[in-house]
Amino acid sequence: MTETRVVCSKCGGVNRLPPSRSASGAKCGKCGAKLFAGHPEDVGTENFDRQIARGTVPVLVDVWAPWCGPCLAMAPAYEAAARDLEPRVRMIKLNSEVEQEAASRLGIRGIPTMILFLDGREAARTSGAMSAQQIVQWVRDKLPTAAA
Ligand code: ZN
Repeated sequence: MTETRVVCSKCGGVNRLPPSRSASGAKCGKCGAKLFAGHPEDVGTENFDRQIARGTVPVLVDVWAPWCGPCLAMAPAYEAAARDLEPRVRMIKLNSEVEQEAASRLGIRGIPTMILFLDGREAARTSGAMSAQQIVQWVRDKLPTAAA
């Protein structure tokens, strides 16, 4: 098994974790933040790109906006799903109102939209609010069996 690379959601630092070490309690070597805090961070375009290009764990992004009622309603479910899915999956959020360029590059038509990236490529996307259980199930169905 090769090392795991996890990109910090706060500072963008790339952390290499040996396979023997559990990622759940790991902290960023650059800024000291917990790599998986169970609280998906809103990231900027640069951090978003780094998560996908430099990290080795699957990345799930929730594209949302502050004016979107269903997005706000889903936020607690997304957090609850993070407690279940992390650290197997890196979960982040992208505010489409702030990060318009990234949102348009992703071809976002409606929000909330969740996109799962595996090995740097989009593997699946879904639109519409979901419960925590539905999010976890949807992601698990898409993960390679070794990671699920
Ligand atoms: Zn950091």
